[in-house]
Amino acid sequence: MIGGIELGGTKCVLAVANNPLDIIEKRIIPTKDPYSTIPEIVSFFSNFNISKLGVGSFGPLVLNSASADYGLLITESKKNWKGTNLVKEFSKINEEIAIDTDVNAAALGEYHYGAGQSSETFVYVTVGTGIGAGVLVKGEPHIGNFHLEIGHMLIPNVDNFRGVCRIHGNCFEGLASGPAIQARWGVEASELSINHEAWKKEAQLLSFGIVNIISNHSPDKIVLGGGVMNQKHLFELIRLNVEDIWKGYTPLGNISNLILEPALGNNSGIVGSLSLAL
Ligand code: ADP
Ligand code: ZN
Repeated sequence: MIGGIELGGTKCVLAVANNPLDIIEKRIIPTKDPYSTIPEIVSFFSNFNISKLGVGSFGPLVLNSASADYGLLITESKKNWKGTNLVKEFSKINEEIAIDTDVNAAALGEYHYGAGQSSETFVYVTVGTGIGAGVLVKGEPHIGNFHLEIGHMLIPNVDNFRGVCRIHGNCFEGLASGPAIQARWGVEASELSINHEAWKKEAQLLSFGIVNIISNHSPDKIVLGGGVMNQKHLFELIRLNVEDIWKGYTPLGNISNLILEPALGNNSGIVGSLSLAL
């Protein structure tokens, strides 16, 4: 049996499985502060005998396994979590741990088991509490020097919205994440009606970011997941906007084959986290 943890900004998904697609038990708990949430996670796994643990977590966190700080959350991206060392904390569950960013994990999930199969340069973007993207080149996460933080790139902010990023204010995530939608319109994103003008704005903001991702990585597949992308009508708006902004500068192929829904639904992250344990 293997264990998986998807540690998100709002919720944490825990699972034990025979393999990533064969989950035996799964639990979703809210991500509160580390003092209460970590013991809750450890306690969930205490009933199971797992051989290895795969963790996909929000960051920024140290991924270099040679570092003494391997697994350390280094920035106050979520209140109270800076300074928590996830590898140290989760070694109470099992000493065998593989950790990556939540978005690299989700990208691996979709690449191996979902919509990213056979993609050469694959990008998984999550639009949830934050925005992040995992970039896989031939199935391997592109880490770079620390790791990518695509949610914190800058995009046009035509109406000078203040933005909600705890660090930068009006970066991509600060303008287009779920909490940014709520801050802009005063209503929780999931409560907005499908006809609300918020969605046209959201599609435009997401398209700015996606065009930047295309410019930087030239992916052949981009999967958009995370809570906000449960608004399925966004996909068509985003495809139209991206084509409109890109203006055929390089061929994008059939845009419906480039910008895709996650084949694993809301399970990309936990399936990918489990796959890290293989
Ligand atoms: P996490 O960031 O913890 O991984 P999610 O990906 O579910 O979790 O992101 C949570 C965010 O997604 C919240 O801001 C919430 O408002 C938004 N969200 C969740 N469900 C929906 C929905 N059906 N429509 C629009 N926004 C949603
Ligand atoms: Zn930011």
